[in-house]
Amino acid sequence: MMRLVLLGAPGVGKGTQARRLAAQERIPQVSTGDILRESVKQGTALGLQAKGFMESGRLVPDDVVIGLARETLTSPDCSNGYILDGFPRTVTQAEALDRMLQETGSAGLDHVVSFDAPHDHIIRRLLGRRTCPTCQTVYHIDHAPPTLKDHCDTCGGALAQRADDQSETVEARLAVFERQTSPLVAYYQQRGLLRRLDATGDIHDVYRRLRAVLGLAGA
Ligand code: AMP
Repeated sequence: MMRLVLLGAPGVGKGTQARRLAAQERIPQVSTGDILRESVKQGTALGLQAKGFMESGRLVPDDVVIGLARETLTSPDCSNGYILDGFPRTVTQAEALDRMLQETGSAGLDHVVSFDAPHDHIIRRLLGRRTCPTCQTVYHIDHAPPTLKDHCDTCGGALAQRADDQSETVEARLAVFERQTSPLVAYYQQRGLLRRLDATGDIHDVYRRLRAVLGLAGA
């Protein structure tokens, strides 16, 4: 049983690490961004509400995302823990998560990991990121290229650049992160939950460091 929050700027590598940790520890990765993108693709009511915010790099309103998180985290899939990737992103969301944990009588979060990397590093990661729209595997044109150019190693799908990874939106998303999400570092530090992680360098090295800060054996 492990309840984790991965905190960090867009493009810092949270999703990639969450995916790997989830597979090894057999607990679900909950990415509000992935759920919202899927809803936009399917054209659901949630997707219609979220689309404009996502395209312009702004946050989807708290009440919408909190409702979505509540629905997901109270589902049986999450009864043995979860890795939250991209939620909470505001202090209001963090307070709502605390209330959800209290209401369900569960113990609180185990760790909140802050993925730290310099600004220019994050920009390079975001602009070079390519994603498989079918299975969500993430690549980078320089650091983690697919074996077959422009195709997913996992499912063979054609890779694409996320609409919000184009240069105009990237700066907006980083500004939103600084203003709305970075206060969560202090929020969780005060609660004794914060672990800091150097998120620069090779994917495998970051994964080893992540396991170490979580007190998990081996990589
Ligand atoms: P991500 O894949 O985590 O980078 O999320 C992509 C986009 O989805 C963000 O830029 C937001 O517009 C929206 N989003 C994802 N998670 C949240 C959240 N917790 N709160 C508000 N908006 C979110």
